[in-house]
Amino acid sequence: MDRLVLDVMCGKLATYLRMCGYDAAYALDLPIGSDEGVPDDELLTYAQDTGRRIVTRDRDLARRAEDAVLLKRRETEDQLGELVAAGFALSVDEEPSFCGACNGPLTGVSPEEPTPDYAPDPATVDVWRCQSCGQHFWKGSHWDDVVETIERL
Ligand SMILES: [Zn+2]
Repeated sequence: MDRLVLDVMCGKLATYLRMCGYDAAYALDLPIGSDEGVPDDELLTYAQDTGRRIVTRDRDLARRAEDAVLLKRRETEDQLGELVAAGFALSVDEEPSFCGACNGPLTGVSPEEPTPDYAPDPATVDVWRCQSCGQHFWKGSHWDDVVETIERL
Protein backbone atom coordinates (compact mmCIF):
# COMPACT_ATOMS: atom_id res chain seq x y z
CA MET A 1 0.00 0.00 0.00
CA ASP A 2 1.30 3.45 -0.90
CA ARG A 3 2.44 5.67 1.93
CA LEU A 4 0.97 9.11 1.39
CA VAL A 5 1.32 12.72 2.38
CA LEU A 6 -1.76 14.89 1.98
CA ASP A 7 -1.30 18.49 0.93
CA VAL A 8 -2.94 21.30 2.91
CA MET A 9 -6.18 21.34 0.91
CA CYS A 10 -6.72 17.58 1.14
CA GLY A 11 -6.62 17.18 4.93
CA LYS A 12 -10.18 15.92 5.25
CA LEU A 13 -9.19 12.82 3.32
CA ALA A 14 -6.82 11.81 6.10
CA THR A 15 -9.39 10.20 8.40
CA TYR A 16 -10.86 8.15 5.58
CA LEU A 17 -7.55 6.97 4.19
CA ARG A 18 -6.20 6.06 7.64
CA MET A 19 -9.31 4.01 8.37
CA CYS A 20 -8.71 2.20 5.08
CA GLY A 21 -5.25 1.26 6.31
CA TYR A 22 -3.21 3.93 4.53
CA ASP A 23 -0.29 5.55 6.28
CA ALA A 24 -1.46 9.06 5.41
CA ALA A 25 0.50 11.97 6.84
CA TYR A 26 -0.97 15.47 6.63
CA ALA A 27 1.25 18.35 5.57
CA LEU A 28 0.10 20.73 8.32
CA ASP A 29 0.81 18.13 11.05
CA LEU A 30 4.41 17.76 9.95
CA PRO A 31 7.36 19.52 11.52
CA ILE A 32 7.91 21.41 8.26
CA GLY A 33 6.55 24.75 7.16
CA SER A 34 4.71 27.14 9.48
CA ASP A 35 1.22 28.37 10.32
CA GLU A 36 1.27 30.12 6.95
CA GLY A 37 1.47 26.79 5.19
CA VAL A 38 4.01 24.35 3.85
CA PRO A 39 6.33 25.47 1.03
CA ASP A 40 6.30 23.15 -1.99
CA ASP A 41 10.05 22.58 -1.78
CA GLU A 42 9.83 21.32 1.79
CA LEU A 43 6.88 19.08 1.03
CA LEU A 44 8.67 17.59 -1.98
CA THR A 45 11.78 16.91 0.08
CA TYR A 46 9.75 15.36 2.88
CA ALA A 47 7.87 13.12 0.44
CA GLN A 48 11.08 11.99 -1.17
CA ASP A 49 12.89 11.37 2.13
CA THR A 50 10.01 9.36 3.59
CA GLY A 51 8.97 7.54 0.41
CA ARG A 52 5.48 9.03 0.36
CA ARG A 53 3.26 9.92 -2.61
CA ILE A 54 1.90 13.44 -2.51
CA VAL A 55 -1.87 13.86 -2.80
CA THR A 56 -2.59 17.44 -3.79
CA ARG A 57 -4.91 19.84 -5.63
CA ASP A 58 -1.92 21.96 -6.65
CA ARG A 59 -1.14 21.33 -10.31
CA ASP A 60 2.35 22.83 -10.15
CA LEU A 61 3.30 20.80 -7.11
CA ALA A 62 1.94 17.61 -8.69
CA ARG A 63 4.00 18.28 -11.83
CA ARG A 64 7.19 18.61 -9.80
CA ALA A 65 6.72 15.35 -7.90
CA GLU A 66 7.47 12.03 -9.53
CA ASP A 67 4.26 10.16 -8.75
CA ALA A 68 1.88 12.64 -7.13
CA VAL A 69 -1.88 12.17 -7.24
CA LEU A 70 -3.56 15.33 -8.55
CA LEU A 71 -7.12 15.83 -7.32
CA LYS A 72 -9.46 18.23 -9.08
CA ARG A 73 -12.56 18.10 -6.93
CA ARG A 74 -13.23 20.08 -3.77
CA GLU A 75 -15.56 17.85 -1.73
CA THR A 76 -14.07 15.03 0.29
CA GLU A 77 -16.43 12.40 -1.09
CA ASP A 78 -15.65 13.46 -4.67
CA GLN A 79 -11.94 13.34 -3.89
CA LEU A 80 -12.32 9.80 -2.55
CA GLY A 81 -13.98 8.92 -5.85
CA GLU A 82 -11.00 10.40 -7.70
CA LEU A 83 -8.65 8.24 -5.65
CA VAL A 84 -10.64 5.12 -6.53
CA ALA A 85 -10.48 6.15 -10.20
CA ALA A 86 -6.70 6.52 -9.77
CA GLY A 87 -6.50 2.89 -8.63
CA PHE A 88 -6.59 3.22 -4.86
CA ALA A 89 -8.22 0.33 -3.00
CA LEU A 90 -10.57 1.85 -0.44
CA SER A 91 -12.29 -0.32 2.13
CA VAL A 92 -12.43 0.20 5.86
CA ASP A 93 -10.18 -2.16 7.80
CA GLU A 94 -11.62 -4.39 10.51
CA GLU A 95 -8.75 -3.30 12.75
CA PRO A 96 -7.63 0.31 12.46
CA SER A 97 -3.86 0.81 12.13
CA PHE A 98 -3.40 4.57 12.08
CA CYS A 99 -4.63 7.33 14.38
CA GLY A 100 -7.37 9.43 12.74
CA ALA A 101 -6.08 12.49 14.58
CA CYS A 102 -2.31 12.32 14.04
CA ASN A 103 -1.54 9.23 11.91
CA GLY A 104 0.38 7.60 14.79
CA PRO A 105 0.33 3.81 15.21
CA LEU A 106 -2.67 2.31 17.08
CA THR A 107 -2.52 -0.59 19.49
CA GLY A 108 -5.44 -2.50 21.00
CA VAL A 109 -6.38 -1.71 24.60
CA SER A 110 -6.70 -4.87 26.68
CA PRO A 111 -9.98 -5.46 28.59
CA GLU A 112 -8.46 -4.73 32.02
CA GLU A 113 -6.88 -1.42 31.05
CA PRO A 114 -8.44 1.84 32.20
CA THR A 115 -9.75 4.19 29.49
CA PRO A 116 -10.59 7.90 29.66
CA ASP A 117 -14.19 8.99 30.35
CA TYR A 118 -14.95 9.65 26.68
CA ALA A 119 -14.06 6.08 25.65
CA PRO A 120 -16.15 2.94 26.23
CA ASP A 121 -15.11 0.06 28.51
CA PRO A 122 -12.58 -2.09 26.61
CA ALA A 123 -14.07 -5.17 28.30
CA THR A 124 -17.23 -4.71 26.23
CA VAL A 125 -16.06 -2.82 23.11
CA ASP A 126 -12.83 -3.05 21.10
CA VAL A 127 -10.79 0.07 21.87
CA TRP A 128 -7.50 1.22 20.35
CA ARG A 129 -5.04 3.79 21.63
CA CYS A 130 -2.66 5.95 19.62
CA GLN A 131 0.95 5.49 20.66
CA SER A 132 1.78 9.03 19.54
CA CYS A 133 -1.01 11.27 20.87
CA GLY A 134 -2.86 8.97 23.28
CA GLN A 135 -6.27 9.40 21.60
CA HIS A 136 -8.63 6.42 21.99
CA PHE A 137 -10.71 4.99 19.13
CA TRP A 138 -13.55 2.52 18.85
CA LYS A 139 -16.22 1.65 16.31
CA GLY A 140 -18.82 4.31 17.11
CA SER A 141 -21.20 6.34 14.97
CA HIS A 142 -18.35 8.19 13.26
CA TRP A 143 -16.91 4.84 12.22
CA ASP A 144 -20.25 3.85 10.67
CA ASP A 145 -20.44 7.19 8.81
CA VAL A 146 -17.03 6.57 7.25
CA VAL A 147 -17.94 2.99 6.31
CA GLU A 148 -21.16 4.24 4.67
CA THR A 149 -19.33 6.95 2.74
CA ILE A 150 -16.73 4.49 1.46
CA GLU A 151 -19.42 2.00 0.45
CA ARG A 152 -21.25 4.68 -1.54
CA LEU A 153 -18.22 5.35 -3.75
ZN1 LIG B 1 -2.66 10.02 17.44
